[in-house]
Amino acid sequence: MTGLDSPVVLLAGRGSRRLEAAALDSAAALLCRTGRRGADCPDCRRVASREHPDLLVAAPERRRRAHVPEFDESSDSKETTLPAALVRAVAAEASRLPYEAERRVLVLLDVDRTEPAAFSALLKVLEEPPRKARFLLTATRPRLLPPTILSRVVLRKLPSPTRADLAAALEVAGLPAEEAEARAAFGAADADEARGIDLAAARALRDGLLEAASGLLLGRSPGWALVLAARLAGEDAAETSERLDLLAQLLRDAAAATVDPAGLSLRHRERFRDLHRLGEAGAEALLGAAESALRDSADLTDSRRNARLAAEAYALRLARTLARPA
Ligand SMILES: [Zn+2]
Repeated sequence: MTGLDSPVVLLAGRGSRRLEAAALDSAAALLCRTGRRGADCPDCRRVASREHPDLLVAAPERRRRAHVPEFDESSDSKETTLPAALVRAVAAEASRLPYEAERRVLVLLDVDRTEPAAFSALLKVLEEPPRKARFLLTATRPRLLPPTILSRVVLRKLPSPTRADLAAALEVAGLPAEEAEARAAFGAADADEARGIDLAAARALRDGLLEAASGLLLGRSPGWALVLAARLAGEDAAETSERLDLLAQLLRDAAAATVDPAGLSLRHRERFRDLHRLGEAGAEALLGAAESALRDSADLTDSRRNARLAAEAYALRLARTLARPA
């Protein structure tokens, strides 16, 4: 439980739900007075059900919130971002004293989805947290937070399960080995999430990206740049970011395929033949394109428009690099 003594902790990693569970677990540790951690402790039980009076949970979605102060929320809120008015209200009453525990725990979920207007209020309260308040923040993409906020938090990264661990967990849960490996290739925060993946859709998306990347990198045909852009563009920034990450994996797999004839190090081994063929584009071009995809993915800010433009910009940039005479 490193870092729990710090007044402001940011939990970062894959899977918003997993981070939320970790934040509530940390909140229980901070509010537990019996020392018994679990369902037979009234403190821990009330934290788990979000009923502990000294626990506040702010989130973009109404149903995930608990004990938030009143604030002005427009009725047509899409619940996709943490409202600025909510963050201000939380900051304004952060210094209220606890009811029964030694401190209050203020959980802010998905702070990487905070309305930019709220960052100054958030920063102000994080700079000088009230003595009896502990802040637990979560973010799947902490890089989207302003550096001023990041400099005020103790970052605790939750490691993702490895592909091998995921596959093993899925096999233990009763899935055939082949399906377990196929699901694990797509990455997930945990076995439950991996089980929930729509495998046919995930494969179709991956194969579509592989086809477009191959058309562009091997065929050097600019038409494929537009196809790639369309296939990379998701509904929102998070989805586009995931697709860029997936493309980066495929490009790395293709670079690896040329030196790994058994394909053991490949994430998407089930597409070995096509990945090996894409390997002909050369490791330098492939790894450069992968690195660029990862950088774009990390820098993508939240908006539908940005998601589409970012996908297009990436594909066109790639096409331009290829068009340049060697
Ligand atoms: Zn307890």
